[in-house]
Amino acid sequence: MKWTPIEVKTGSRTVFVDITGRIDEEIRKTGIQNGICFIVIQHTTAGLTINENADPDVTRDILVSLSRLVPATGDYRHAEGNSDAHLKASLMGFSLMVPVMNGRLARGTWQGIYVCEFDGPRTRQVLVGVQGEEE
Ligand code: ZN
Repeated sequence: MKWTPIEVKTGSRTVFVDITGRIDEEIRKTGIQNGICFIVIQHTTAGLTINENADPDVTRDILVSLSRLVPATGDYRHAEGNSDAHLKASLMGFSLMVPVMNGRLARGTWQGIYVCEFDGPRTRQVLVGVQGEEE
């Protein structure tokens, strides 16, 4: 399986960036119609998740709730001062696996693929791998 890196620019310290269309574009380039798509983020202060992409208040509510769960300051030892970002990224996770059907992500009506930035703004690298059949 070939892995393709895509760059994702994030505009603020904490933000969810919808990359659903970019993943579908990478799948289209492979010509694979049915199979599986793996998405991996190569960072420790940004994660990946799937959630609603119809109402932007959903990602806002997730970010606000994560900040309540994981305060910016606390009993942290990590000298970089971004322990909250490391914790939030681990809560979200670093990889996703989504079925591919008919050349596209087989996702629910309201599901979008998000890069979850917790220590931006930065440019993040995401690897996309697609395996399957072209027919
Ligand atoms: Zn750090």
